[in-house]
Amino acid sequence: MSTGLDFAALLGEIVEECRPHAERGQLPTYIPELRKGNPRLAGIALQTARELYEAGDTRVNFTLQSISKVFSLLVAIEERGPEAVFAKVGAEPTGDPFNSIVKLETAEKKPPNPMINAGAIAVCSLIPGATVEERFGRIAGLLEAILERPITIDEAVYRSEKETGHRNRSLAYFLKDINCLEGDVEEVLDLYFRQCSILVNCADLARIGMFFATKGINGADTPLVSARAVRLVSTFMVTCGMYNGSGEFAIQVGIPAKSGVSGGILGVVPGRFGVATFGPALDRKGNSVVGISMLKRLSEVLDFSIF
Ligand code: GLN
Repeated sequence: MSTGLDFAALLGEIVEECRPHAERGQLPTYIPELRKGNPRLAGIALQTARELYEAGDTRVNFTLQSISKVFSLLVAIEERGPEAVFAKVGAEPTGDPFNSIVKLETAEKKPPNPMINAGAIAVCSLIPGATVEERFGRIAGLLEAILERPITIDEAVYRSEKETGHRNRSLAYFLKDINCLEGDVEEVLDLYFRQCSILVNCADLARIGMFFATKGINGADTPLVSARAVRLVSTFMVTCGMYNGSGEFAIQVGIPAKSGVSGGILGVVPGRFGVATFGPALDRKGNSVVGISMLKRLSEVLDFSIF
């Protein structure tokens, strides 16, 4: 970028300044395998059209968790069309936690949006394919095309969540009852747990952010999905990507973003660059404490809020 700033040095300073904020957060305990994380890890990466800038623990692998919801939503919109998708899931933010069941029995009797667990599980049920492998292949295929490398899943995290994901299982069966989940419930859950356990690192996430920033164009200038689908998903990232912390995040950072409980945040500065953070200690809403403070700081320095 032509701002005259030394990006590598700036990112390095931000990591060291914000790393201690991990003390204010906690590792997630409800997925046993994620308790093993190291809360002191912190990394930040920024991908422009030409260059990747990074500092801290940007090459440590972690599971996508809820960040995966943006890929299944892109695939579902592309393959099934927005109308079919929004017949099963709403488009409104919610002030409830990401794994809440409460709105399924009130309001419209459908999950409020595709970024919370209930909505994402409904979206998974719309991914076409005869088998779970085939359906997973569509989500993984998109990610592989963006990253231009094969992806793998963390088998231990996958099994851990499959064995202990009782709340997600309840959400899925409830969705089936209210006609918001197509097909076999256990197969859909299997797909959801698999997508959550895809392995990435912070540098990958910055590259994915750049993909969103350029409306679905990867490094080779090939549109992988329609600009319309990318715009829809980016809008959900603004309104619901940080769950019930999305409002405050919009004020403090001001960009489309998606968090996951393993500590990653995918950020998009439309038309300009992708930015991503990693820091496993979470606030009470399930968002990375260090990640948010790093993005807040960077947004102040680079003045990249879209608002
Ligand atoms: N796999 C996690 C779950 O379903 C994803 C949630 C998240 O990252 N917020 O609970």
